[in-house]
Amino acid sequence: MKRLPGIFNDVIGPVMRGPSSSHTAASWRIARICLDILNEPLKKAVIDFSTDGAWAPNYREQGVVMGINGGLLGLEITDSRMKNTEVRAEEMGIAITYEINSFPTNHINTVRLSLEGINGKKVQIVAASLGGGAFEIQKIDGFNVNICGDFFEILILNKINKPILDEVKTILPQNILLFQSCNENGELINLKSSKDISVEIIKLLKTAPVFDEVIVVNPVLPIVSGNEIEMPFTTIQSLLKYSEKENLDLGEIGLIYEKCQSGLSEYELINKMKNTVGIIEKSIKTGLKGTKYEDRILHQQSHLVGRAEKTRKILQNSIVNKIVANITAIMEAKSAMEVIVANPTAGASGAVGGVLKAVAEDLNSTSDELIKAYFAAGIVGAYFAKKPGFSAEEHGCQVECGAASGMAAAGISQLFGGTATQAVNATSMAIQNMIGLVCDPVADRVEVPCLGKNVSAAMNALSSATMACSGFDVVIPLDQVFQTVSLVSKQMPTCVKCTGKGGLAITKAAFDLKEKLTINRSGQSPKS
Ligand code: SF4
Repeated sequence: MKRLPGIFNDVIGPVMRGPSSSHTAASWRIARICLDILNEPLKKAVIDFSTDGAWAPNYREQGVVMGINGGLLGLEITDSRMKNTEVRAEEMGIAITYEINSFPTNHINTVRLSLEGINGKKVQIVAASLGGGAFEIQKIDGFNVNICGDFFEILILNKINKPILDEVKTILPQNILLFQSCNENGELINLKSSKDISVEIIKLLKTAPVFDEVIVVNPVLPIVSGNEIEMPFTTIQSLLKYSEKENLDLGEIGLIYEKCQSGLSEYELINKMKNTVGIIEKSIKTGLKGTKYEDRILHQQSHLVGRAEKTRKILQNSIVNKIVANITAIMEAKSAMEVIVANPTAGASGAVGGVLKAVAEDLNSTSDELIKAYFAAGIVGAYFAKKPGFSAEEHGCQVECGAASGMAAAGISQLFGGTATQAVNATSMAIQNMIGLVCDPVADRVEVPCLGKNVSAAMNALSSATMACSGFDVVIPLDQVFQTVSLVSKQMPTCVKCTGKGGLAITKAAFDLKEKLTINRSGQSPKS
């Protein structure tokens, strides 16, 4: 079941700790759902990554262990104990081990979790991370499922081959979606609801003698699906036609999009965005104040810009200085495992927040104008999320910093007072300059060249918004730019798609750094 990307579910968020949204946030979400599926307290877990997958070479460094451990231990992803989940697991007496094995997969970021509970229940789950924190639980003990964390769900298991569908239907209200999967072990029925399933219905299901097991799975995404209302536009062209007809800017269009997608009121959505922007701005303050974290490449540098400005070594009172300092602060907060907002991903979390704050301050924009700019950034991000999506393992950095640059360009154009067409053109221009950008993180840390790419994404966004709002010709419309990103990613070799096997990741300096960090962390040299 394909759902429409949402601004809060897929673009501006998740709110998280950890280096990477596809590695840390998605794996945390997967593990939280798996803990519900186990349906009893966890005793031990074996986590497998496919030998041929993108996670095998760098799952620990990029935060998968942090995410999976945290989810399996029942921690919130913003909990400060996420910084040290291995110690927490030991304290709780839960054994979580990691292996690399061969098993069938249909996505490059696939993980298999074999869990055992304290009462001896065992379950095996296969899931994939789809980029930017999105994920899909694909199999539970061989049964096909499609759980993406956006519904209240119930799983009904019937191990002996007796038909249970009719029995389930008699208990359920009509607005609950129902999916059935059968294999040689019996039958699994998956119920999906847009509303919390009542205690009475759960009790009826649990006491029905024909069901072997009834499992409640809670949503992990901020917006629950199934409450959508009809959208007045679909494609980017129809969106622009609608904006002209109704005389709406892109921020207003973004708010309408999210209202239709979520079923929430404007008031609720504006408050949610205010809260999210508050978290982004707090991460800038945290970074500028100074962060400490041993296992990282870059230590605090965000304060150096202010120092250089005071001693007249760089431009005076320039927006460039503010942009560089803000982005560096967010990236430092991220690398120190402080709370940040993936925007649209954790690796690219600096660009949009850093540049929108600097531009809004320069223009003396009101807080409401800044919120609108985030909705403008969010809607172009939602169209990006539809296709190609934000998975660097599939498409490289063109879908992380490239997407962030396009989103920031839309947000800046909104702050400039540009039309929806100008904001969409600014996005197109910005992404045109980022096509083919490789993903080659040094020493498997999401720091270098990620910081520089975030800064150039923001500068590129500012110049693209300036060009678009001055009336420059976009030449290639945004939908064709999205298609080009997908096409180019097919032509890019795997070694430059977040595998640590190409680009700057294989320079001598990168190997030296990797060795140094590995020795610091474990006292052992890295395996070749
Ligand atoms: S290079 Fe880009 S895509 Fe790769 S980890 Fe860094 S920010 Fe993410």
